[in-house]
Order: sequence, then C-alpha cells, then structure tokens
Amino acid sequence: MKILVTGGAGFIGSAVVRTAVERGFDVVNLDKLTYAANLDNVKDLAPARHAFEQVDICDRAALDEVFRRHQPDTVMHLAAESHVDRSIDGPSDFIETNIVGTYTLLEASRAYLAALDSARAAAFRVHHVSTDEVYGTLGDTGQFTEETAYRPNSPYSASKASSDMLVRAWGETFSLPVVISNCSNNYGPYQFPEKLVPVVILNALAGEPIPVYGKGMNIRDWLYVEDHADALLTILTRGELGETYNVGGNNEVKNIELVRTICAILDEISPRASGRYEDQITHVTDRPGHDFRYAIDATKIKRELGWEPRVTVEQGLRQTVQWYLDNAWWWQAVEARNGIARKRLGLSVP
Ligand code: NAD
Repeated sequence: MKILVTGGAGFIGSAVVRTAVERGFDVVNLDKLTYAANLDNVKDLAPARHAFEQVDICDRAALDEVFRRHQPDTVMHLAAESHVDRSIDGPSDFIETNIVGTYTLLEASRAYLAALDSARAAAFRVHHVSTDEVYGTLGDTGQFTEETAYRPNSPYSASKASSDMLVRAWGETFSLPVVISNCSNNYGPYQFPEKLVPVVILNALAGEPIPVYGKGMNIRDWLYVEDHADALLTILTRGELGETYNVGGNNEVKNIELVRTICAILDEISPRASGRYEDQITHVTDRPGHDFRYAIDATKIKRELGWEPRVTVEQGLRQTVQWYLDNAWWWQAVEARNGIARKRLGLSVP
C-alpha cells in the first residue's frame, strides 16, 4: 500500500513515515518544508520506499500533479502550522495552511478518487490528523470524548477545529471517505526545539532559565510520539470510515511536574557540576487564553481497534532526554538554521 503523507518532514509526520516504511508501506512524503520541517528526520529511509515532494498543500495544481505521478492508495494528512504561541503572534499562516490548505487537499483528493477504478476507490480514504485542543478546556474533572462539543480557544485550535469541520462536511456532502483522529500532546525524538519538552531539556543543558507559564498548574495528557504513529497507522488501516477516534496517553501531568521530572532525569544521567537543574526553573507570564486542562478518554480506540499506548510518560521522557543527549548534531543544526540563541544564566553546567 502506498500512503501519501502530508507534513511528513515534521515531528509527528516523520515518526509516521519512519514507522510506515518499517512496516512495509511505501510512502510519498509531501511537505512544504517550513521552519518546522527537517529532512534529517527521514534521511535514513530507502528512496525506493520513500519519495519526497516539496509542495504546499494550498497549491492545487501541485497537489494534482503529485496524485497523478504517484497514484497513492490512501492519504494521511498531518501538514499544519502547529505551535500555539506562533498562532497568537501571527494567525494568518494558520488560517492559510490549516483551513485553506485542508480544503485544497480535500478537493484534490475528491478529484483523484473520482478517477480511480472501483477496487482502488473502495480502499481509498483521507485520514485527517487533529488535536484534542479543538475541545477547549476542562475544569478539574471530566475527559474529552468523541462526542464533546468543539470550543477552541486559540487561533491554532480554531484553525484545526475548522479543518475537522471541513473534513466532516466533505465526507457527508461529497461521500469522500474520511476518518478523523484527535490526539493529546505529543513528545519524543525529533521535536522542534520550541515545544515544551525539548525547550526544557535544551535550556537545562545550556544552563539557561527553564521557562514555565504561570505557576505551571496547567494539565496536559502526554503521549509518546511513536505510540501516536502506531495509533495513526491502526486507524488508517482498520478505522471505520466517517468515524472520529480520540487518541491519548492516559498520562495527565501538571506542566510543573513534567518539568521537574525532566530535570530529575537529567540530574541522574547528565548531572550539573553543582546544584540541580530544577534551580533553573523560571516562572514566566502565562500565555493568553491558556487552556487549564486537557484529558482524553481513549476508550473507543481501545475497544474498537485494540490500540493502547505502550510507553509510560516516565519511560518516554527518559528515552527522549537520552535522544537529545545523543543527537546534539540534530538540534544544533536546527537551532543554527533558525537562529535560536540561548541566553545563558552563567551557571557552571556540563
Ligand atoms: P510540526 O509543526 O512538527 O510539522 C508540521 C509539518 O507540516 C512541517 O513539516 C511543515 O513543513 C509542514 N507544513 C506546514 N505548512 C505546510 C503547507 N502549507 N504545505 C505542506 N506542508 C506544510 O507539527 P507536528 O507536531 O508534527 O503536528 C503534525 C500534525 O499533528 C498537525 O496537524 C497537528 O495539528 C497535529 N497534532 C499535533 C500534536 C502535538 O502535540 N504536536 C498533537 C495532536 C495533533
């Protein structure tokens, strides 16, 4: 089976591409290569199994050409602008890529499907990869289910909610075979160093302040990226058309606890010359509209498709910390390309 993966040079997309190729799929990886992309994430894949196309999902003619040349059996859509803080500073790319780009991909998929023979058309689907942030925020109790009403609070989550709605409408109105999944916060190797987990690891190692929004009491459900890739391939191959699946890690953690856990792992495997990494924690002004708590009820995907996470947050964080320690070449190149400079605290750390 040949999968067209959009956003396959990003963090989650590249984990999907690597896992898919490992499991015997052929992959066409379509990516615009924004700041968040990195072809190093897929550099070890054999060209016979992995074709890369630099294309913007807003470019309909280029999408049609990719479909025509590669004749994929199915589509998994991950390309997006994905960083909440950037959506607050400048929402327009989020509207363009996440909404207009998804619309353009849906239309290109619809045209491609119409020209397929019936056997291939029966196997074709568009799997849209989305976030639990579309559901808004929770109080101290409760969990998001697939029935929870959408109440997005940031420009990012509003743009993802819009794209989910478009996918749903294309399924209902045009009978496009679609599936949607909404997942909680991912972490793991190859994550761009602007997201919380790599920021904590890299600032800690650089002897810089480790920024924590507000008091760090916000709660997120954390999922190791390879577990998410596994869930996505499960949904792609066995999920019911027209359905939505929530994907989560059953790992609700306060931000401050997550940061302290990373610091403790670093104290153990790469200790500072003196003191503890926790001493670098610095509370900063909270993000506007910061959702208090996300928690995913992932019962449906477990019950219907037999998927559940394999990696606990403690194991996953340990693997992630070790990966960043072992792969300085990867994040140093990303930081150099993106002009990410660190403001040192003047601490004596290794
Ligand atoms: P990412 O920012 O690391 O990667 C996004 C990729 O999309 C990049 O490679 C980028 O170049 C590409 N892209 C951006 N605009 C494009 C365009 N116009 N045309 C083609 N490619 C374009 O993001 P990620 O964290 O890997 O997230 C992937 C998907 O999963 C997103 O749709 C995101 O909303 C969703 N998601 C992310 C998380 C998370 O915790 N990171 C959780 C749930 C869902």
